Amino acid sequence: MTKFYCKTCNRFYNLKSGPNYLVICPFCKEYVGSESDYGFGPIAPCTVTIGEEAFGEILPVDGYTLVSEKYHVREWARGGYKDLECYKSAAETVKAWLTEHKQEHEWFKERNESSRSRYTYIDLYVFALLYGVGLQDDELYKEALDEILMADPEDEDATELKYQTTKNAVMHTFRLMEERDFDKAEFGKRLMGVLAEYFKGSDLSSFADSMYKLWGFLPYRFSEEKPFCYLFSAGDHLSYGNRGECYDELATAFHYYDE
Ligand SMILES: [Zn+2]
Repeated sequence: MTKFYCKTCNRFYNLKSGPNYLVICPFCKEYVGSESDYGFGPIAPCTVTIGEEAFGEILPVDGYTLVSEKYHVREWARGGYKDLECYKSAAETVKAWLTEHKQEHEWFKERNESSRSRYTYIDLYVFALLYGVGLQDDELYKEALDEILMADPEDEDATELKYQTTKNAVMHTFRLMEERDFDKAEFGKRLMGVLAEYFKGSDLSSFADSMYKLWGFLPYRFSEEKPFCYLFSAGDHLSYGNRGECYDELATAFHYYDE
């Protein structure tokens, strides 16, 4: 059994081990991870799953091709075997397919509650920040809010948030962060873990801008502390043309809690 962990929405997927695996999260539609004998054996065929459900396979056809007999998908996976580029390409195809088939598919209706813990206020804060800077739509924010209310229907703050527009609810959530005491380290780990994922492959200068904006929403009481302060200062390096330093500072923030 191999565990795959979706950092974006905090879910685990348990899969029986085979030589090659590629996992896509059915909730956020992102590439969760892959396992391959790359370096020791062929990278295809590779089983492609959405969560724990089989979707199809990447086959060594015309280079590499994603094939799902069940869902009638056949799409060339570009990029070849180097750095498993063809896996990433196949993951993009699955993401597009999931987006297109979102309404009809039971993966989105049946949620496996046992596969992860419930969302808490920490998650709500993180999702509010991601929404606030435009890195995420409001789907996860709303889901977290619903779960908080499900766990405690009497929760007054959550009830109040529920009846506001997302934009207002998110602004209100920032105020709650300011007023309430919560585990700063747990929050920091969660936030930096998610940001590290968004950072991969993003445009440095626009990402630094988003981080500067995000920093402005953080509670005043700890925004000056490490690693949060890096989100504020990283962008400064760009105004002097120091891209490397900007990158390093953001990476330092995102990996602050590693190990
Ligand atoms: Zn996910």
